[in-house]
Amino acid sequence: MAIASAPVLVLNQNYEPLNVCSVRRAFVLVDRGKAEILENGRGYLHSPTALYMIPSIIRLIYLIRRPRPQGRLTRRDVFLRDRFTCQYCARHTKDLTLDHVLPRHRGGGHDWKNVVAACKPCNHRKAGRTPQEAHMHLVREPFRPPFSFYRTFFPYLEDQVEWRKFVPDWDFDGGFA
Ligand SMILES: [Zn+2]
Repeated sequence: MAIASAPVLVLNQNYEPLNVCSVRRAFVLVDRGKAEILENGRGYLHSPTALYMIPSIIRLIYLIRRPRPQGRLTRRDVFLRDRFTCQYCARHTKDLTLDHVLPRHRGGGHDWKNVVAACKPCNHRKAGRTPQEAHMHLVREPFRPPFSFYRTFFPYLEDQVEWRKFVPDWDFDGGFA
């Protein structure tokens, strides 16, 4: 991969992860005084006249109020949020299904607050019932994540070790299959 297109983590002024851009774009932002280099994990880029630090993480000088994109809710999003853990028996597995807490035929929606990861035995046991009816308990209440950083940042975190401390929830093992 050419270094100019390598990924750079962009943090908001408040250190919240905001986006991923290319080294080229990061140089432009820094050059225009819109961002500062926070981590420089990639050595230097030589030009005929100068030496430039190659950024790995930059931080915007001004706080960006971003619209929170809702995005389409996919199985992968839910499994990532739930850290590949069954939300009923807490088993860590990749063999998961999506469970609608309030079943769809009972009016349950396909949204963050009603969808959880469930292993096949638990999903089978719960069947078309509510957790109360099935005498099953959720490990934690399903929630809408702050924004779609699961998809935006997680794919990079295996390689970009220094990014991890800025991306919340990075502590589950294996989840990229
Ligand atoms: Zn289970």
